[in-house]
Amino acid sequence: MIQVKFWGVRGSIPCPGPTTMKYGGNTACIELRFPEVNRHIIIDAGSGIRDLANYMLQHDLPKGPISTEIYLSHTHWDHIMGFPFFVPAYIPGSTIKVFGPVTYEDEPLEEIVGGQMKYRYFPVNMGELAGNISYQRLKENPSIDIGDGIMLSTCIINHPITALGYRFRFKGATFCTAYDTEPFRNLFVTDPEDPSYDEIMAHEGELAAQEQNQVLENFFHGADLLVHDAQYTKKEYEQSKIGWGHTPIEDAIAAAKRAEVKKLALFHHDPERSDTQLDEMTDHYCTQELTGNMETFFVKEGEEIILE
Ligand SMILES: [Zn+2]
Ligand SMILES: [Zn+2]
Repeated sequence: MIQVKFWGVRGSIPCPGPTTMKYGGNTACIELRFPEVNRHIIIDAGSGIRDLANYMLQHDLPKGPISTEIYLSHTHWDHIMGFPFFVPAYIPGSTIKVFGPVTYEDEPLEEIVGGQMKYRYFPVNMGELAGNISYQRLKENPSIDIGDGIMLSTCIINHPITALGYRFRFKGATFCTAYDTEPFRNLFVTDPEDPSYDEIMAHEGELAAQEQNQVLENFFHGADLLVHDAQYTKKEYEQSKIGWGHTPIEDAIAAAKRAEVKKLALFHHDPERSDTQLDEMTDHYCTQELTGNMETFFVKEGEEIILE
């Protein structure tokens, strides 16, 4: 069994307020519990991790020192900004293992995550954290045995910096993430009128993009729950957001459906999106016609899903 709980579902920046009460205003943070083997995993340390920390202090700490693993999809600020507020890091006896990709070889993960805990930005320095914190860089890897019968795969997704999708498999249950990402596209000139147009290159580029998109679909194929980027509508995306690293809702649904995903959680909501708009979008996009048998929803902060 994997117990999934969403502590932050927004992209870009926290956006609390009266218009985001229903879906929540915290940035990315997802908790996975594996109660049969007593493992605790957190995906991303967005602002939602602060509330998760409070929950853990109340419910887990009384049972013994906290031990958790944090898997970062990438190191954009909305995915790491909550780390300095993750209280277990300050408690002696806590064990926190941080995993994630880095974009530049010479920049260790520790420095990127800990760099926001310099006195210039934050009153507590990294070195003052009393917990036992370790950092490990992750690369793309189709099969990592992380112990206790949990298998992990990672997949490079399409974002302006190196970002990973995660796939956790435990006792027949599969949980998968694919955010922040946008569809791979042809990087060559496709307009025959353009002086730099080259027919062969344009064709090759098209094939490469299709292949990369297929690799990602294979990665989340058959997942019991897929958490997928859905920040923009197709119209918004095509008007001005191409290259920003996020997926149009229409494309997320179509790809997940092709990949026979069972449940699709649309995630990384734009901070400008109000509860009313997300409700309207639910009516518009989460229809049998578009999604078939795949349970599809704009995920809310606080939502819990059990996979078995
Ligand atoms: Zn993001
Ligand atoms: Zn990002």
